[in-house]
Amino acid sequence: MSADPDPKEDARTVSDISTRSEQRRARDRDARPTAPVPSAAQAAPGRAGHTIALEKLSAYYGETRAVRDVDLTYAANQVTAMIGPSGCGKSTLVRCINRMHEEIPGARAEGKVTLDDVDIYDSSIDVTMVRRVIGMVFQKPNPFPTMSIFDNVAAGLRLSGVRGVDLRERVEWALRAAGLWDEVKDRLGAPGISLSGGQQQRLCIARTIAVEPEVVLMDEPASALDPIATLKIEDLVHELKERFTIVIVTHNMQQAARVAATTAFMLNGELIEHGPTDKIFSNPNDSRTEDYITGKFG
Ligand code: ADP
Repeated sequence: MSADPDPKEDARTVSDISTRSEQRRARDRDARPTAPVPSAAQAAPGRAGHTIALEKLSAYYGETRAVRDVDLTYAANQVTAMIGPSGCGKSTLVRCINRMHEEIPGARAEGKVTLDDVDIYDSSIDVTMVRRVIGMVFQKPNPFPTMSIFDNVAAGLRLSGVRGVDLRERVEWALRAAGLWDEVKDRLGAPGISLSGGQQQRLCIARTIAVEPEVVLMDEPASALDPIATLKIEDLVHELKERFTIVIVTHNMQQAARVAATTAFMLNGELIEHGPTDKIFSNPNDSRTEDYITGKFG
């Protein structure tokens, strides 16, 4: 019998998340052209993606179960949309994926969430590391109000203690990848909150991706924005999927149809179905999905 450790066992430790991430970052840095970097897609050609799998995931607020036994796999380097009526558990589910749900007093999750082969709820896992590799963008743009544009993007790097990176270079890279560089490059010292709503949201996306996560969760990232700013975010989502696995919560079915390869429909905390977006919107398996997308309820 071999004395070598089982690679799967080995992969379940927190150090594996961070080591794997560091190795990838080093690889990506080598692959990354020096500035200017026109887009996220071009920043790291051929970058291997990461899969998230939910197994029997349930989420509670006290005794109330808001998410029920969800099994769902998010494919690497794809955009998956979460749709369903308000209150069906989309945001709660997404917050379980980077362990933010448990921050709410009385809230807890049950079941399993794995990032590739790493169980992110394992007791050995460092929650801070989980949130670094699974980043999140919220509905309302939330730049740090007292910080400049530059410092907003650098904040994630500073907070998560990323070392050995050229801060200026990384901030520029993230702003370019978020499609904001050309609009802000001459006023990096201006307050983040001096930007328009759409720009602030792209700033928050830059802040999230600056730490080079593997997965980006977006909870209604465009619902507070006007139609033009919304389209910019959608274009950006298209580009970012070359580099990240993306989960986007949206109540806007046209948006799901525009950006997502697959769509998951939730109702009353349950996953009703998940499939190719075209199929979900044209020929769903479940009559409840059909009733929702045809506007019979919602
Ligand atoms: P969605 O994102 O689909 O609108 P949510 O995940 O926000 O749905 O909510 C799912 C259910 O959980 C709803 O019944 C909502 O009232 C409840 N809920 C959400 N947040 C909290 C909270 N902080 N405390 C208690 N219940 C909550």
